[in-house]
Amino acid sequence: MTGRPARGDTYELRYDILVVTAGAVTRSFPIPGPAQQTIGLKHVEEAVAIRDRLMTAFDQAASPPPGPERRKLLTLAFVGAGFPGVEGFRELLSLATAMLRSCPELTIDDLSFHLVEARGRILPEVSDKPGAWVVRHLERRGAPARLNTRLLSAEDGHVVLSDGGEYDATPIVRAAGNAPNPVVHHHTDLPLDERGLLLVRPEMRVGTESEPVPDVRAAGDDATIPDLASPLPGARTVPNAQHAVRQGRLLATNLVADLRGRRVRNHRHGSLGVVATLGLGRGIFQYKGIVRVLAVWLTAALTGRDLVSLVQHPRDALVTSERTQNPGAARAKEGSTA
Ligand SMILES: Cc1cc2nc3c(=O)[nH]c(=O)nc-3n(C[C@H](O)[C@H](O)[C@H](O)COP(=O)(O)OP(=O)(O)OC[C@H]3O[C@@H](n4cnc5c(N)ncnc54)[C@H](O)[C@@H]3O)c2cc1C
Repeated sequence: MTGRPARGDTYELRYDILVVTAGAVTRSFPIPGPAQQTIGLKHVEEAVAIRDRLMTAFDQAASPPPGPERRKLLTLAFVGAGFPGVEGFRELLSLATAMLRSCPELTIDDLSFHLVEARGRILPEVSDKPGAWVVRHLERRGAPARLNTRLLSAEDGHVVLSDGGEYDATPIVRAAGNAPNPVVHHHTDLPLDERGLLLVRPEMRVGTESEPVPDVRAAGDDATIPDLASPLPGARTVPNAQHAVRQGRLLATNLVADLRGRRVRNHRHGSLGVVATLGLGRGIFQYKGIVRVLAVWLTAALTGRDLVSLVQHPRDALVTSERTQNPGAARAKEGSTA
């Protein structure tokens, strides 16, 4: 195996057992602008930076009079209305509404929040009814989801949409799903499915049913694993933390069992349901068709919102994943900006 540290020289590492848990990366968009003008929603640093950006925009927007300059500062766009997109968008709207209380110069009408979704519905992980409820909920809060709408371009922070909409936005948040980790398909010769995910057996060994790869294991978002809890033939587990955490634990247990000549177990996990938070105090929960609207968030109710901004390097993860997914395009861009 070749290791390439952030600082220092590349090195070779010999191994007896390889465990691949590299996760997924933010999906790249083959349209003008995104690599330079957008931010992902995969890493904590990215989420913190988006929150910081809103806080800075509030500070800056308090000075100019109501009008285009102020509106531009308080316009943001989320592209993709799956779980991360909807949760992130609603949380930011909730934060902005809370901050208005300490900014008498600004009103709710100064906010311009856009959630763009290519499909005709949001939250594909839940059934139609709760998805439609969330759409109505956002509409009531003045931040409607634009369904059946695609981002066409984000050059220079200018959003162009397939329904004719255009506006300047900062940030433009990319929440339209993940792609398989390029390190797995570009830099290993392990067996993959057609999407580029590692083929993993239920006992967490890499390989197909008939051909396990000796001494290589994998788990989590970089892997596709038979879903033994599903009644559907051929079903594979979905990439989420419910599976990743359990697969990781089982992988370690099976590894030890294997080394000690004991029996290994298969990964089998029935979903515990899905939860989407919708800002402070609200959310939906669905388990086997049962839907609940939650209103709990005790800690924040007691202590109030944390309105302190933080400092970090938010775009590193996205730039690295762009570079590995589209090496040619990234090199050309770097060359043109050098
Ligand atoms: C915004 C958001 C909200 C989510 N909310 C939920 C939720 O509510 N419930 C839920 O079940 N799931 C949720 N998920 C999904 C969940 O986070 C993932 O399914 C889970 O983290 C996958 O775990 P993993 O270990 O496979 O990958 P990751 O958690 O992505 O970990 C992979 C690690 O490998 C590192 N890595 C990558 N490439 C290399 C390399 N070449 N060399 C060394 N290290 C590398 C990465 O930096 C990362 O630290 C959410 C995801 C996102 C983005």
